[in-house]
Amino acid sequence: MKRIAVLTSGGDAPGMNGAIRSVVRTGINRGWEVFGVRRGYDGLINGDLKPIGSRDVSNILQLGGTILGSARSHEFETEEGRERALKALRKHNIEGIVIIGGNGSQRGAYTLTESGFPVVGVASTIDNDLYGADITIGVNTALNIALEAIDRLKVTASSHQRGILVEVMGRDCGYLALMAGIAGGAEVIIIPEIETAPDRVAKQLREAYEKGKPHALVVVAEGAKYNAERLARYFKDHYELGFELRVTILGYVQRGGTPDASDRLLATRLGAAATDCLARGEVGVLVGLIKNEIATTPLKVVATTKKPIDLSLWDLAQELAK
Ligand code: ATP
Repeated sequence: MKRIAVLTSGGDAPGMNGAIRSVVRTGINRGWEVFGVRRGYDGLINGDLKPIGSRDVSNILQLGGTILGSARSHEFETEEGRERALKALRKHNIEGIVIIGGNGSQRGAYTLTESGFPVVGVASTIDNDLYGADITIGVNTALNIALEAIDRLKVTASSHQRGILVEVMGRDCGYLALMAGIAGGAEVIIIPEIETAPDRVAKQLREAYEKGKPHALVVVAEGAKYNAERLARYFKDHYELGFELRVTILGYVQRGGTPDASDRLLATRLGAAATDCLARGEVGVLVGLIKNEIATTPLKVVATTKKPIDLSLWDLAQELAK
């Protein structure tokens, strides 16, 4: 192997830069030339790649986002788009590629593997919905940002005896909401994996009020059937909860953070593991952390398996909210 490429795809995640840096430097240390692809699969399709050196990745470890840029590429989901991407890789004599991203990006990576191209995926998304990784790059930072916001919201809610509905990211996966809810001491956690009737939530809030709680915190996953705004409207129209309600949608604030220590370390380890895989010819795999060890999982399995979340933690949260 003489020449490899690296790209970031899908939603940016704090720590992606640490993974890029690790891939670039460990690749160069192996005597390879490393090419950086701009804006994910779109950049690959348009041949937007150029050599990236050790100095180009100086001072990026502590930066959120991705210096390569990222994108959601509809064109890459078509056969023609993928053919153009492969053509660009061949034109630049690239012999292997590292794809840093979440489950959509790794499904894309799998399609490249199916065409026979050597690919290694690196597990990176704040959603933590990727099979083959217990915890993905960006999750811990996003969780800490959500928690900081929740802690602040609880302070002001307590002063006014309010109910707060906080909506957190995670696409179709309730992981971030569940963890932020538990660590933030939520009265109610609403996630897509568990159907929750709004009337039941209203009852829980009323009970919390009658118990004399100074505030009530509801953490809602963005992928839940009823989002925070909709729930608040419904409660206002149908219930006397006691608490006055306020809604906060954290949104992209969660994605833009400075990667914390654990995301920097995880990104560094996974980036190095990816070039290790390419060097020994273990391709068509995702590198991720499983039971605190670096592990590889075939991209075919990653692309076709839904990652479950530990619902016993939801039961625990229910018990603690009493
Ligand atoms: P996150 O969930 O953190 O935003 P992600 O990697 O899951 O990250 P997606 O938008 O789901 O983000 O996917 C990123 C890109 O991967 C898509 O825009 C598309 O180009 C490619 N992709 C997704 N699914 C497929 C597929 N089945 N075949 C080919 N490419 C795909």
